[in-house]
Amino acid sequence: MLKQEGKKILGTSKPTILCMFSGGIDSTGVLHRLMTSREYEDHPLIIHHIHIYNREDRARAEACAVKQILNYYSRNIHKEFLYTESIFNTNGFAPLNSNRFPFDMDTCAFIAGNICASRKDIEYVAMGRTRTDIDSVSENFDDRMNRAQGIFKGVLSLEDSHPPTYIFPVVKWTKAEIWDSLPERIKQACWWCRRPNYNVELKAEPCGKCQTCREVRRFKHAGV
Ligand SMILES: [Zn+2]
Repeated sequence: MLKQEGKKILGTSKPTILCMFSGGIDSTGVLHRLMTSREYEDHPLIIHHIHIYNREDRARAEACAVKQILNYYSRNIHKEFLYTESIFNTNGFAPLNSNRFPFDMDTCAFIAGNICASRKDIEYVAMGRTRTDIDSVSENFDDRMNRAQGIFKGVLSLEDSHPPTYIFPVVKWTKAEIWDSLPERIKQACWWCRRPNYNVELKAEPCGKCQTCREVRRFKHAGV
């Protein structure tokens, strides 16, 4: 864990990176790069997980993945980090009978902005944008990313300092290539399904039907 506040942590003057970490494949790819790449080795690192409770019921599955993945890095990679978490719960929207609830990306941007408002040493916010996202034009990913960055900047609009910059450490990689880059133990721990089922022991199981399940099945079966 980080021992001091501010930019000069562990004898380095490099700015702090905030990693918004869900336990999914994309953000795990980001975290793996931040933990292992020489490019980021002297940057103090804050890892933040948001427990997002909504009708997709993914929070428990993600929390389990986050715990296992951080345990792996704590034991196997000699890089210190500060871990923090928060809770965002929209289950109370249910009586509205609406299909619409906040996008994870928007929630992430809002929380990231508030963390940056309280930690002036953060200059970069690492997000899990991939080449697969960029190639999937039909999902309007750019529009959603631009809106999220608008939310992030909006939260910080009353601060005196310049807002931190979003960085995308795995933007040149497809989801399959990210998967291929991960250690086996991390692959076993990470979570991807949008709408998990929980068995009688409350263990999460992928639904096998959602878009991410179908996508992951393609490259897992291809032996990537
Ligand atoms: Zn699924």
